[in-house]
Amino acid sequence: MKQGYRLLMLATVIAAVCGMALSFTLEAGAGLRGTLSRGLILSSLIGFAGVAILRPQYQRAGSGSMGGEVREKDRQSCTFQNVAANAQALHSLEELRDYLMTPEKYAKYGARMPKGVLLYGPPGTGKTLLARALAGEAGVPFFALSGSDFVEKYVGVGASRVRELFKKARKAGRCVIFIDEIDAMGKKRDDNSSDERDQTLNALLSEMSGFYTGDGVVVIAATNRIEMLDPALLRPGRFDRQIEVGLPGRDERLSILRLHGENKPMEADVDWENLAAMTVGFSGASLENLLNEAAILASARDSGTIQMDDVERAFRKTIAGEDRPSLADAQERKIIAIHEAGHALLGRLLMPENKLTRVSILPSGHGAAGYNLTIPAERVMLSRSAMENQIRVLLAGRAAELTVFGEEQTTAGASNDIARATELAAAMVLELGMAGEPAVSVRVLGRQCGGMGDAGDRCRKLLDELFIQTRQLIEAHIAALDALASALLVSEALDGERACAILDEALSNESQKTA
Ligand code: ADP
Ligand code: ZN
Repeated sequence: MKQGYRLLMLATVIAAVCGMALSFTLEAGAGLRGTLSRGLILSSLIGFAGVAILRPQYQRAGSGSMGGEVREKDRQSCTFQNVAANAQALHSLEELRDYLMTPEKYAKYGARMPKGVLLYGPPGTGKTLLARALAGEAGVPFFALSGSDFVEKYVGVGASRVRELFKKARKAGRCVIFIDEIDAMGKKRDDNSSDERDQTLNALLSEMSGFYTGDGVVVIAATNRIEMLDPALLRPGRFDRQIEVGLPGRDERLSILRLHGENKPMEADVDWENLAAMTVGFSGASLENLLNEAAILASARDSGTIQMDDVERAFRKTIAGEDRPSLADAQERKIIAIHEAGHALLGRLLMPENKLTRVSILPSGHGAAGYNLTIPAERVMLSRSAMENQIRVLLAGRAAELTVFGEEQTTAGASNDIARATELAAAMVLELGMAGEPAVSVRVLGRQCGGMGDAGDRCRKLLDELFIQTRQLIEAHIAALDALASALLVSEALDGERACAILDEALSNESQKTA
C-alpha cells in the first residue's frame, strides 16, 4: 500500500509545465538570490502533480495561527454530502459514524474499535474535509490541531498540549479529534530526534491507550508522508486503520467540480467533461481553487454568470500565472523561444499522447520566462520508456539552446528542468530498477547494507545518454524547431493546436525532403 502510494506519487511527477526559470541574465539587477528563489517557486509549482500544483500549500483555516489552541467546530457544518469522490475512504468512515453515534452498542459486543485512523495522501485531497464530515455526520464535536502546533522548542510543552487536548475532548464526551500533519510530531526516531518530539509522541500514545470503546472518541490523523512516521504510531491500538486518500481520477474530478459548481452561477457553456480531462493531477483543493479563481474573474466582469472562458483563463492563471509584458531584449527572447520550442518539439515527437495546450515566451506571473503547458495523458503506472521520454522532453530546452547558440551562451534557464530530470533519473536507478539491475532497489540496499554503490555514476550515465539522444533528435529536426521558434517570436503565445500544426507541417516537409 505504502509502496503503491510512493509509486503513484512518482507517476504523477511528470512534466506538465516545462517552464524556463527566470534567470538573472533575464532580469537585470535581480541578483542570484532572486533567481534561486524564483526557481524554487517554479519547482514547487510543478513538482507535485500532473498538470501542476497551484498553491504550494492549501491554506487551512486556523492552522498555524492557532498556536496550539483547541478548536471545536460547528457540529453541523459539514457532512458526507460535502465530499465528492473518495468513495473508499467514505465507506470506511461510515462504520465509524455508526460507532460514534452508538459506542455502547460496540462496547456491548466487546468489539475493539480502531482508536486512531490515519488518512494519508497528497495535500488537498480532502483529508481534513473527511474528518470534519465524520464529526458532522455523527453530530459530535470536532477538535482540530496541526502536528506542527505541538512541536516547540521547550521540552514538555508539546506533551502538555497533547494532554490538554485530550482533556478537553474527554469533557466533550463523544468526539472526533483531528491531528493534521502528524508527521511533524510522529517522525521516525533517529539520532537527530529531539527529547521534545519524543515526549510529545509518547504523550499522544499514552493518551490514546487511555480511552476505551465505550468512550466514543475517534482520533483521526493526516499526513502526506506516511513513510516518515514512527512505526510505534501504526501499531494495533494506535493508528491501526490506515486509509489512502489519493488524487482524484477523471470521473472523481468531474464529481468534485460539479459539487463545487453547484453553488455558483455557472453558464451552460461550461464543459465539465473537458474540465475534468484538463485537470489531470489536480487535488480536490486545486479544483475548488480553480472554480473560485474563475468566479473572481467573472465577478470582475460582472456579466451575471461564470463562463467557460473564465474557467480556462483561471486554469492558465493558476498553473502558470498571468502573462506579464514581453521581454525587451531581442536576444533573450530568441533564446527563450528556442528553449520552449525544444520542449514542444520533443514532446510532439516522443509523447504525442500528451496534450499540448499552450506555448508561451511571455514571462509568467509564477516566475517562468516562458513555458509549455501540457496536459499529460492519465496513467497510473509509468513505463521505463515513458520515463525516459519524459526526461528527454525536460532536457530538450537546454539541448535546443546548446544546438542553436553553442556552449558559450548557455543560460541558467534550464535549472529547474535539469533538477526534475535528475530526480526522475535517480528514481529509475534507486527505486525502480529501470537502469541496470532490473530487480534491485538501491535505496533499500543502501539503508540495509550501507552505501549506494555506484548509483550516482549510473544516474549520470543515464542522463548523459538521454541528453545526447535529445540533442540528436533536435539536430535531426532543426527545421521544425526553427519554424516553431519563429512563430513564437511573432505571436509570443500559441495555443497548443496551432503549435502542433506548425511542428507537424515542418516535420512532414522534412520527411518529404529526405524521401
Ligand atoms: P487535505 O486535508 O487533504 O490537505 P482538505 O480537506 O483541507 O485537504 O481540502 C481542502 C478543500 O478542498 C476542501 O475544503 C474542499 O473544498 C476541497 N476538496 C478536497 N477534496 C475534496 C473532495 N473529495 N470533495 C469535495 N471537495 C474537496
Ligand atoms: Zn525548460
